[in-house]
Amino acid sequence: SFKDIEAIRKRHLNPALTTYYSKPFAISQGHMQWLFDLDGKRYLDMFGGICTVSVGHCHPKITKAVAEQMEILGHCSNVYYNENISKYAKKLSEKLPGKLKVIYFVNSGSEANDLAVLLARNFTKNFNVMSLKNCYHGMTYQTMALTSNAHYKYPVPQNPGFFNTVNPDVYRGIWGGEKCRDGPVQTKRSCDCGNECEAGQKYIEQFQDEFKYTISKNGLAAFFAESIQGVGGTVQFPKNYIKNVSKIVKDNGGLFVADEVQTGFGRTGDYFWGFEGHNIEPDIVTMAKGIGNGYPLAAVATTEEIASSLTKASHFNTYGGNPIASTVGLSVLNIIEEENLQENSKTIGTHLLLRLSELMDEFDFVGDVRGKGLMIGVELVSDRNSRQPLSPEKMTKIWEACRDLGLIIGRGGLHGNVFRIKPPMCISKLDADFTVDVLRYALNRL
Ligand code: PMP
Repeated sequence: SFKDIEAIRKRHLNPALTTYYSKPFAISQGHMQWLFDLDGKRYLDMFGGICTVSVGHCHPKITKAVAEQMEILGHCSNVYYNENISKYAKKLSEKLPGKLKVIYFVNSGSEANDLAVLLARNFTKNFNVMSLKNCYHGMTYQTMALTSNAHYKYPVPQNPGFFNTVNPDVYRGIWGGEKCRDGPVQTKRSCDCGNECEAGQKYIEQFQDEFKYTISKNGLAAFFAESIQGVGGTVQFPKNYIKNVSKIVKDNGGLFVADEVQTGFGRTGDYFWGFEGHNIEPDIVTMAKGIGNGYPLAAVATTEEIASSLTKASHFNTYGGNPIASTVGLSVLNIIEEENLQENSKTIGTHLLLRLSELMDEFDFVGDVRGKGLMIGVELVSDRNSRQPLSPEKMTKIWEACRDLGLIIGRGGLHGNVFRIKPPMCISKLDADFTVDVLRYALNRL
C-alpha cells in the first residue's frame, strides 16, 4: 500500500532523496507515454523519468528483445568478445559524425563525464576543466565540481581544477534581457533566430577573458557544455556562442566535450545530436538517459587518437555495455529509426512550443517559453517586467494541479521556477494539446 511504501522510503532510503510534491504519489506501471499510480489512475508523462524514457515506457520491442537476451546471456564481462556489444558499438558509432568512432560504455551520465575528464586530461596533459554556470554534468565527487549549481554540491572541499564560467543565458543572464527576442516560432527567444546578437558577442568576449584571468596559458584540458541546459531550466545559448567558444578552447590546447545526456538521440528534432545544431564537431561526446530508455546505460564517444592515449590497463568497467545493456541500446536506436521518433520530436515539439507560447499572451507571469523539439521550458515569473522567479509555493500549486489533472511535468532552473517538458518522443499532437489545456487550467486557478 502507499503507506507501507512511504514508511519504508522514509526509514530505509537515503534521506537526501527529495520530491518537490507536497503530496507525494507512487507510480506502479508505465506504458509508452503513460504512467499509472497505485490506484490505476493514468497520467500523461511529459517528463519521461527526467528526460530518460526516450521511446516509451515498457516499449514492447525492448521488452521482447531483453526477454529473449535474458534467456541466452545476461552478463559475461568485457574480458571476452561478445556479439551484442560489437553490433551495438558499430551502430552507435554510425550515428556519430566524422572521427568520433570509438565508444566506451559505462552506466550513468556522471560516470560518462567522469571518464571524459580523465580522457581529456590524459590526452592534453593539461589539468583545468571549464564548464558553464547553471550546468549539470553529474554528482560523483569529480563531476560535482564540474556541475556548477551549489545545490548539487556536498559542503566539502571540491576537486581542484574546475572552473565555472558565466552562463550565456539570454533570458536571465548578465547580458540577457530584451535584446534577444525574436525566435523562429514566435517563442520570443533569440537562440534559433539565425542572427548573432549583441549579448552573444559579450558572452564570447567574457569567455575569452577567462584565459587572461583564470586559466594559465595552454592549461586547459577541456570545456564541457550541454547543447541546451537541461536541469538548469532548458536554457539555450545565443547563436554561434558554442561554435566560437569551442574554437577558443581548441586554440588554447583544450578539448570540447559535448554533454548529450539530455539533448541526444533525436530529442531536439532537427538533429540526432544537439551539438549538430551548434555546427561543431566535439572531441568527446558523453551520453546517457535517452540512450537506454531508463535502463542504466551510458557512453563516451571520442576519436581514435584521443582514445589511444588511454591504454588498455587504465580503464575498466564491469557492467558497461553488457549483453542486456547492448540489447536495450540497440533496440532504442532501431525504434527511433523505425518509428520516426526524431521526426516526431520535431513536428510535435514545434507544435507544442507554439501552443505553449500562447500562454505568454494570456498570463503576465509566463515569462518565457523556449526549447527545441521535445525539450521545452516554461519559465514562470512574478511579472514579466521584473522577471523575478515565481515563488516555490506558487510553482508547487500549479505543478500539483497539473498532476491532479493527470499531467506530469518536471521542474528545474536555478530558482526552481521553470517547468520542464521532456516526454517520451512517441507522444501525439493530442497529448501536446492536452498538456497546454491542463497547464492553462492550472495557471488560471492560480
Ligand atoms: N549530464 C546531464 C546533462 C544531465 O542532465 C545528467 C543528469 N541529470 C547527468 C549528466 C548525470 O547523469 P546521471 O544522473 O545518469 O549520472
